[in-house]
Amino acid sequence: PFDVLIIGGGPAGAAAAIYTARKGIRTGIAAERFGGQVLDTMAIENFISVPHTEGPKLAAHLEQHVREYEVDIMNLQKAAKLVPSKVPGGLHEVVLENGASLKSRTVILSTGARWRQMNVPGEDQYKNKGVAYCPHCDGPLFKGKRVAVIGGGNSGVEAAIDLAGIVAHVTLIEYDSELRADAVLQRKLATLPNVRIVTSALTTEVHGDGEKVTGLSYKDRNSDAQHDVDLEGVFVQIGLVPNTEWLHGAVALTTRGEIEVDHRGETSQPGVFAAGDVTTVPYKQIVIAMGEGSKAGLSAFDYMIRTEPA
Ligand code: FAD
Repeated sequence: PFDVLIIGGGPAGAAAAIYTARKGIRTGIAAERFGGQVLDTMAIENFISVPHTEGPKLAAHLEQHVREYEVDIMNLQKAAKLVPSKVPGGLHEVVLENGASLKSRTVILSTGARWRQMNVPGEDQYKNKGVAYCPHCDGPLFKGKRVAVIGGGNSGVEAAIDLAGIVAHVTLIEYDSELRADAVLQRKLATLPNVRIVTSALTTEVHGDGEKVTGLSYKDRNSDAQHDVDLEGVFVQIGLVPNTEWLHGAVALTTRGEIEVDHRGETSQPGVFAAGDVTTVPYKQIVIAMGEGSKAGLSAFDYMIRTEPA
């Protein structure tokens, strides 16, 4: 059995693996896709101390760093089930989709999250070419330009407020007949001169010139009229979905599906830890996922030295 079994090979999982392997304990990492969301990213300009890098490059560095240590890397392996130990100090079991079963004294869950997409023509084609999902990451790339924010919930309205301070103009598009964000955010939004709010609107297409985004179309749900907006960026803010479908019943999740963790990164199951975008820890960012992964790694080690094997 492993001492530490990490599920997920993004920034959080890679950081956890490096921290535990450096303690000399037997570490395994199983990932559906080593690198995680970073593989889908182009420019990264907020990875502190590295002014500019690119997603695939950072993902390659993550793997290279993990490979400096004795870590059993199981790439292209999807976990299907977690069976936590019923006794303190006992072995936890992770069943993979291929039927294999892995046992470990501690487990670190770092399966990340995925942005919900609009699934309209042009969205995929112009991803990273004007279509963005993370205002903290890509906001500054649109300095002085025109953007739309899709979604009028808390994250959409927060994004619109944030972007309004950077870009020339923001069009906020909400499907419902009214915004769903907290009143305090809506009040703040209403004071901004360069934001236009459009409700009862369904985004139907992202337009581009083959290289980058040039606009979008939406349908007015009351009149069915089609409208076009010229702009350079589209921020999609219709939800970040944690990859926890396989964990229902195994550890405590919030109603949104995020894994509940304490300040040490421990879940509701002793010896099972979690880190990164999959948890309740706010602000889904690479540096934060790495810090949380390192913390979960150290917490797993601490658990090991304090808990008698059952
Ligand atoms: P992830 O990166 O999501 O990794 C999850 C890992 O778990 C992957 O290896 C995945 O394959 C694996 N996995 C999932 N389910 C299973 C399963 N059942 N079994 C096994 N493995 C599984 N952040 C920044 O700080 N700066 C940026 O500029 C930036 N730009 C971004 C641009 C885009 C387009 C996107 C999508 C995100 C961006 N982010 C950025 C956010 C950043 O990528 C995430 O916060 C970070 O990757 C989270 O790391 P993580 O390890 O928690 O999860």
